Amino acid sequence: MSTQRAEPVPTSQLVGDALACPRCGRPGLLTIRYPHTWHGRTGQLVRGFKEAVLCAVCDRGETAAEDVIALVDTQGQIGPGNTERFLHCAFSWIDHARGREPDFAVLAEEEQCWRSGEL
Ligand SMILES: [Zn+2]
Repeated sequence: MSTQRAEPVPTSQLVGDALACPRCGRPGLLTIRYPHTWHGRTGQLVRGFKEAVLCAVCDRGETAAEDVIALVDTQGQIGPGNTERFLHCAFSWIDHARGREPDFAVLAEEEQCWRSGEL
């Protein structure tokens, strides 16, 4: 019999109030927070969370995002008849958002702006 307690397994969660879009600053439609791990400088596993914001402007053109955006009205509400469809589309978008990789060219450009004092 083991005396170790199992750590709770973190899960993805929708954040109550959507954050502002980090790309354009407009209010987001959805924010998801999900577990993320990486290895630190000494190789130890670091556990944390990442967030993704669904933006009605910046995420146009991504199929998974478009499906969710189409179900949300201008007040950010979902019709009662669309709840099941919304959940299906939202989970598809979450899977898509979790697979995104940062654009390292944009990061390098922002770093250069930050180092030069432009940010
Ligand atoms: Zn945006």
